[in-house]
Amino acid sequence: MQVVRTISELRALRGAAAPLVGLVPTMGALHDGHLSLVRRAREECETVIGSLFVNPTQFGPNEDFSRYPRDEERDLGLFERDGTDIVFAPSVDEMYGGTPATTVTLGGIAERLEGAKRPGHFDGVATVVTKLFNIVQPDRAYFGQKDAQQLRVIRTFVRDLDIPVEVVGCPTVREPDGLALSSRNVYLDDDHRAQALSLSRGLDRATAALEDGVRDAETLRRLVLDEIEAQPLAEIDYVSLADSGSLEEFEGDVTGEVVLSMAVRFGATRLIDNVTLTS
Ligand code: AMP
Repeated sequence: MQVVRTISELRALRGAAAPLVGLVPTMGALHDGHLSLVRRAREECETVIGSLFVNPTQFGPNEDFSRYPRDEERDLGLFERDGTDIVFAPSVDEMYGGTPATTVTLGGIAERLEGAKRPGHFDGVATVVTKLFNIVQPDRAYFGQKDAQQLRVIRTFVRDLDIPVEVVGCPTVREPDGLALSSRNVYLDDDHRAQALSLSRGLDRATAALEDGVRDAETLRRLVLDEIEAQPLAEIDYVSLADSGSLEEFEGDVTGEVVLSMAVRFGATRLIDNVTLTS
């Protein structure tokens, strides 16, 4: 495995790499969710390129950029173990030096949910992922459904800007007790962690109700809210039941493919989770 820190080194390796080239973008602090993407890329591609970059522009001023967990040595070991050929680990200066004047901004789906709660977040994501696509020029890029809205945002600008990459969405990896794996889970103390299980329990309850024929959006959202509101340490940012394509909230009966999602704070730690369902 080769580790490169500059765009020019990456381009030189990319030029000589065997097609298909698969890219797995990450912010590091790798867990089995990230590694499931690496393994999927390994199965499907000739060359697997991972990126390791905690992108400052997708964090708000009061968010956790400076304390985001970082352990490059461990991350490189895991990338290598699971078959990565090249890791691109640039500095902030390498990515954003030279006073950039350009941002990739989306309206519509990027303005709801996470976009409403984290202004500028998806501008940061869309810009850095566009840059990674231009730098690496992968044939395929792998992203997790754990970040369901992010995946939609990426699919949208790839389509709108005619970027020649196939975006592959991969299922959410969970702990045996249901907690979705996240780099931020390391911040949770025992009480927070126990109460954080209410997110996946809420998703399971609503999934079961939908399977039993419950269609009313408010009833389904209420099942999730009841689980989470019963946790004394949970502060809910939102619980959403939205159309899978537009991410517009359902009122009345749900139809077609729906995404049930939430963001909940436990102390300073903000967790998100979601499930996609067909009614
Ligand atoms: P991050 O390092 O948080 O930016 O995540 C890098 C990639 O890993 C994104 O495409 C995430 O959606 C994906 N990812 C994060 N957590 C999980 C998970 N539990 N299961 C599957 N993919 C995940």
